[in-house]
Amino acid sequence: MSVTDDIKQRLDIVDLIRGSGVDLRKAGRNFTGFCPFHPNARTPAFYVFPETQSYYCFSCHASGDAFGFVMARQGLDFGEVLRELAGRTGVQLEERTPQREQEDATRARLRQINEDAAVYWHHVLVHTQKGQIGRDYVARRKLTAATVETWQLGYAADDWSDLLRYLTDRKGYQPEELETAGLVIKRESGGYYDRFRNRLIFPIRNPKGEIIGFGGRALGDDHAKYMNSPETPLFHKSHVLYGIDLAREAIRRQDAVVVVEGYVDVLMAHQAGFGNVVAPMGTALTADQVGIIKKLTRSVYLALDADAAGANATLKGLQTLRDGMDTTVVPVPTPHGYIRWERELDGVIKIIALPPGRDPDEVIQADPAEWRALVAAALPLMDYYILHLTANLALGSAKGKAEAVDRLAPLVAAIANPVERAHYMQQVADKVGLAERVIRDVVERVRRGKPGSLRVELPRDMGGLDGASTSLSAEDQLLSLLLRFPIVQDTVESELSKDLGQFPDLAGDIRGSVAETLTHIENRQLWQTRLDHAALFAADPTAWLEQLDPYLRERAQRLLTYTETPELPTVNRLHHASELAAKIAAEIRRTVVVNRKNQIKTIFEVVQDGADQQLLGKRLHALLDYHNLVTTPRRSTFYRDLGNRLEQLK
Ligand code: ZN
Repeated sequence: MSVTDDIKQRLDIVDLIRGSGVDLRKAGRNFTGFCPFHPNARTPAFYVFPETQSYYCFSCHASGDAFGFVMARQGLDFGEVLRELAGRTGVQLEERTPQREQEDATRARLRQINEDAAVYWHHVLVHTQKGQIGRDYVARRKLTAATVETWQLGYAADDWSDLLRYLTDRKGYQPEELETAGLVIKRESGGYYDRFRNRLIFPIRNPKGEIIGFGGRALGDDHAKYMNSPETPLFHKSHVLYGIDLAREAIRRQDAVVVVEGYVDVLMAHQAGFGNVVAPMGTALTADQVGIIKKLTRSVYLALDADAAGANATLKGLQTLRDGMDTTVVPVPTPHGYIRWERELDGVIKIIALPPGRDPDEVIQADPAEWRALVAAALPLMDYYILHLTANLALGSAKGKAEAVDRLAPLVAAIANPVERAHYMQQVADKVGLAERVIRDVVERVRRGKPGSLRVELPRDMGGLDGASTSLSAEDQLLSLLLRFPIVQDTVESELSKDLGQFPDLAGDIRGSVAETLTHIENRQLWQTRLDHAALFAADPTAWLEQLDPYLRERAQRLLTYTETPELPTVNRLHHASELAAKIAAEIRRTVVVNRKNQIKTIFEVVQDGADQQLLGKRLHALLDYHNLVTTPRRSTFYRDLGNRLEQLK
């Protein structure tokens, strides 16, 4: 039994749906209410079937199980729902090993240490004599008392062991633990000293609001103006978005996030009522941070220094379109990097162009309306680059044109979506004043110069999964074929939809789609991310795997490395794969049709409204006919002709 089945068994879908605010009343053995997925007040078209732990709306055709419901209703992704429902039902997602228990215990202890440190530093800032330096700085930056409170700002005294003494003498922690938490540093001569001294302290929290580390702004003449916690079991710089715990709701509500550079930028923005603002640690966004953001929104605004794009273009050498930056943390954002993130985000990145020499903190402080106007005027990433990377070039001259194409072609080439790419080739051509064909040639050359970008084959070393040859369920095998041989999709889709044209009444009840045929939530989910990230999947399956939820990733790896027994013939392999997939899909379709037929029949029997009853009766008939058609073995015309002739002989 899969984990999701286990969870579903322990859940009651009726309770779950009621708990989300849908009023359900009994209708025979089942439950009905107004559908939460389409606006209506006339007829309760939404039915919940406790027996199959599923739901169906006969009006908008929303359907699914407990997982699908929570995902659709709360807008969460599969991994989040899996963890939430696992937690609610007490199902363990991973094997609990003593080592893992130990690691969890360590992390919990470190969180407690961080909490205690934050409370102490905050106390020093707000209430003590030695905190005066910190209070002066806070006042100078125009941060209010409410901001200091909300963000639990603190002050680390100008002292080598102020925090160390407090946490060991008063709180009873061991110095070794404080070192693991990144708060103290071991002396070579023995003993420990405070890492943060004479600094304003910004506690850094994860999306859940737990303190995972600290940032410190030097208030003396320390050469390092800003200092963060080192990497610890809790603090991974590349995962952190400062302010995400408090910005989460606003980001979701406004369906947009604004990314700025500094702690104070975030504080000032929130203080002025711009609640959807966060900052990464360091200047660049990382793939992990994009991952956090995209659960909340697909629309990202980056506040960039006016010269950033131009400076980076020359600094980084755009012609080196190599993958080095995929694995390392890039200290400087590069245009190419942002395009990659846009692709991973599968959304839109817009650039807020700041006035030269001013950061968001200053702009907001001077005039919140100006900030609002800058955000409203933000340009889509590529438009921004086209504008700014050509700003200092003489586009009338051959040299200027060549330089502009050199700068822009690698960026256009990095756009994964072919339609978008074509759009920007046109834009660049217009801007530079060259024929589009010239730009296209250069872009294609850049693309070809990037080996491996279009490979479809998976690397051999991709999992080393044992048990890769153990048999799969029919549905798993279908998905495996679809993932391994993309060409199969067409055949399967035409098999699933070929007879539906005769049954217009079934529109919605049976869609004939691949997703509908995949009845297991994890399979359906995998297929969905395969469709959502088609370009990434085609260009780099390993990268596609990496962005999956770990639970799905393991399954995806298994399906991608599966081999049939007996193996598919090597001659005409794709054809055989297509045939096999279509055959399996046709088999599963019968179950899908029977299930839907049973649902509609059940609803038909209890529905009160005459018009609804008539409508459902018609659809039930169509379903019965369609069911007959897809379950009766198809006779070839040979037998029909033969039958006719036999008829005639009688
Ligand atoms: Zn509905």
